[in-house]
Amino acid sequence: MAKKATAKKFVYFFGNGKADGNRNMKDLLGGKGSGLAEMTNAGLPVPPGFTISTEVCNIYYQQKSKVPPAIDREIADHVKKLEKAAGATLGSTDNPLLVSVRSGAKFSMPGMMDTILNLGLNDRAVEGLKARTKNGRFSYDSYRRFIQMFGNVVLEIPKEAFEHEFEAVKKSSGAKMDTDLDESALRQVVDRYKGVVRAKARRDFPQDPHEQLEMARNAVFRSWMNARAIEYRRIYDIPDHIGTAVNVQMMVFGNTGDRSGTGVGFTRNPATGAKEFYGEFLINAQGEDVVAGIRTPQPIRELEQVMPKAYKQLREITTRLERHYKDVQDFEFTIQDERLFMLQTRSGKRTGFAAVVIATDLVAEKLITPKEAILLVDPESLNQLLAPGFDPVEWKKIPTATKGLPASPGAASGHVVFSADHAVEWAKQGKPVILVRRETVPDDIHGMFVAQGILTATGGMTSHAAVVGRQMGKPSVVGAGALEINEAGKQFRVNGQTVKEGDFISFDGLSGEVKIARVASKPSEILQVVNGTLSPKKSDLYRRFDQLLTWSDKFRRLGIRANADLPDQAELAYAFGARGIGLCRTEHMFFGEGRIPIVQQMILADNEADRRKALDKLLPLQRDDFYGVFKGMHGCPVTIRTIDPPLHEFLPKREDLMVDVAKLEAAGKSGRELDEKRTLLARVEQLHEFNPMLGHRGVRLGITYPESTEMQTRAIIEAASRLGKEGVKVVPEIMIPLVGMVKELRDQKIIVDRIAADVMKEQGVKIKYLVGTMIEVPRGAMTADEVASEAQFFSFGTNDLTQLTFGFSRDDVGKFLRIYQDKKILERDPFASIDVDGVGKIVAIAVELGRKARKDLKLGICGEHGGDPASIHFFEKVGLDYVSMSPYRVPVARLAAAQAALSVKHGD
Ligand code: ADP
Ligand code: MG
Ligand code: MG
Repeated sequence: MAKKATAKKFVYFFGNGKADGNRNMKDLLGGKGSGLAEMTNAGLPVPPGFTISTEVCNIYYQQKSKVPPAIDREIADHVKKLEKAAGATLGSTDNPLLVSVRSGAKFSMPGMMDTILNLGLNDRAVEGLKARTKNGRFSYDSYRRFIQMFGNVVLEIPKEAFEHEFEAVKKSSGAKMDTDLDESALRQVVDRYKGVVRAKARRDFPQDPHEQLEMARNAVFRSWMNARAIEYRRIYDIPDHIGTAVNVQMMVFGNTGDRSGTGVGFTRNPATGAKEFYGEFLINAQGEDVVAGIRTPQPIRELEQVMPKAYKQLREITTRLERHYKDVQDFEFTIQDERLFMLQTRSGKRTGFAAVVIATDLVAEKLITPKEAILLVDPESLNQLLAPGFDPVEWKKIPTATKGLPASPGAASGHVVFSADHAVEWAKQGKPVILVRRETVPDDIHGMFVAQGILTATGGMTSHAAVVGRQMGKPSVVGAGALEINEAGKQFRVNGQTVKEGDFISFDGLSGEVKIARVASKPSEILQVVNGTLSPKKSDLYRRFDQLLTWSDKFRRLGIRANADLPDQAELAYAFGARGIGLCRTEHMFFGEGRIPIVQQMILADNEADRRKALDKLLPLQRDDFYGVFKGMHGCPVTIRTIDPPLHEFLPKREDLMVDVAKLEAAGKSGRELDEKRTLLARVEQLHEFNPMLGHRGVRLGITYPESTEMQTRAIIEAASRLGKEGVKVVPEIMIPLVGMVKELRDQKIIVDRIAADVMKEQGVKIKYLVGTMIEVPRGAMTADEVASEAQFFSFGTNDLTQLTFGFSRDDVGKFLRIYQDKKILERDPFASIDVDGVGKIVAIAVELGRKARKDLKLGICGEHGGDPASIHFFEKVGLDYVSMSPYRVPVARLAAAQAALSVKHGD
């Protein structure tokens, strides 16, 4: 790295009411560092400290696990500054400065990285601390915690090695709780811990605080690349290159006795969104004790009785923080001898339910505008509101086995598993699972991700399982203390019953009730309203959901259509707010009842006349289908695609036919059935293609069997005409798939125009219709100007376009995609989220060429990507007119489109 003349800043101080950083510096300081700076500037009681920026993390990795001397000097200067602010010195024997060394990336990753408390203690400083505080129990408790954390995080000694010694001392001194250990017992613990370090790390516990600090800092950097942090980033699409900051902060102590404590909380309920002070605390405890689920914490309300002054101040501060950040805050605090200190604040992670409730409440309270409310809700989280719940009648019939804390709402049902690995194994076989654990740890993340729900025996509403469950939108019940879990024996006992791995259980994350049974489900409240079975007046949640989406509609530019093939799908999409169909796949109608034989008759025909006979039978059926779909969309535009898939999809499998023929032959049968099977087999063999996805499909079918395009056009125009006579005006959009050359489209357009003219003349009506194409073959995109001379609209078929651009078969990509992602060759699955650099570039070129050739060219997208928020963001940027997705994703898309419009407008 070449050095510039002006020294760059890598370390940022906070303390004495002033900070170098602020809330807008999350990239550099991480969320925690930026929050500590902002709180310091606001004059809140925050212990002083400094933040080593995320850039240093990246430098550390570039320079093979080293930090350049210049940065080391900058850190040393800040240590001096901190010592001055704290009035204590690192390593001093009579007044030692103790610090925490805390990880903190731009995006919070609960429990994924490491933090070390009480750094600076050694054999002499601990005596200094004792002399100063006259509290030997506290001093040695702090020291044993430090050795344990440092030993685990920095020296990589398994936690169990320490826990084993701790339990041994607890037992020998007859202590029940950790807090029952007195000074002499804790001294024993410290000695044993030092022995553990010597045995496992083959060195003495480092006594020099400066060495401790450097080692801890590097360990925090290393924790950025531990397996669980990498897995977490993969799940949440967080890039690896952003790195973590390191916060070094003066310690304050919640473990000095009964006038001290520590806790975490939220300004509103993050599970339901209710406006209530929410959280937990522990008296005489430090740091992670609350989250780790070792002792069961007290609800935060009870703090009011125990320490009314600190409680009042905490409420005031956190209310102020919520107003300041205009969002729910998730905070950490410690009380040392009745004095309150704030240690962290950030936007609280919340469930989809809570997100909608909170966003609409904050607007009602005039804290934010509707525009800001839109930006507060993660579009994907709306899916939680659509998930089915238990049928209340069925639910009541089954006795409740136990009740835990309702950490994250939703109905969960599945087979019990006791480990994250098993959860993954079972889920791979397509089985729904409930992960049951005494408590979850960050290493369980992969199992939690695939589970239907999470159930734990210990821990409170802010325990790891609760926090992560809410964030993932998974139903979770925690702290169900009645569960006697035997993880090794793969079973638990509750209420006199034994439940084994694989047994079915159900729980309700809103009430906390757990039942040992499979329970029938019922559509979600939102869906009941959309289906018309529940009045919107009766659903507060629906009204809020609808309010948020109505606000979204005001800010979005992109039109929202749905991919719907059948009338009831069209109705549903319309009820969800789609105003048009972007893709109606006509072939899906061929699978309708009693139709396959006619379709097969058409395919089997070896001459045009026979083919027409079959098509004539299909005509009235298709006409009714289109009529229904048009009607379901209440006159909004409907794009109908002519037949697309390879024909063999409509015929029986070759292998099955061969077996049938062989069986008939072996049975000595002859006659019609055998003849039919033989003919079918012969035709199937004739149709066999080596690569059907690149074979006789799409526009190629229409070109080789023009009578099929004729029939479909006739059905479309006749349906539109019938609806027109009923007073509903529709403008059908006839879409020719898989066009790579303008001449292909021209061939089909001539047919469509001819038939449309015939029908209009017969019916004595005039109907406006459009003819356009799907852009899904790269050649079509690269010659989009030529194609646009014949097409009145383009709809990007990004599934095929991705397949053909990468040369990845959609059906085979699963074999290597994960490895590509692990090796960082691909960040994301390009079939789920558009590949902006490649496929996106082709889309952008086609948009530009197409619009140049035809100014009023209508542009849309109907691939899977149409419902993906990140892809929607891209489509907003390239200026498409609409996006189209499956009906259930319409709400997600409405919100995502509004967010995209707002952020693109503000230049991103
Ligand atoms: P995480 O990101 O996992 O929450 P933190 O860095 O926030 O990790 O710290 C872990 C725990 O230690 C938290 O409960 C926090 O409040 C506490 N803690 C961190 N720094 C200090 C400090 N300087 N004094 C007292 N407690 C601290
Ligand atoms: Mg924290
Ligand atoms: Mg296609």
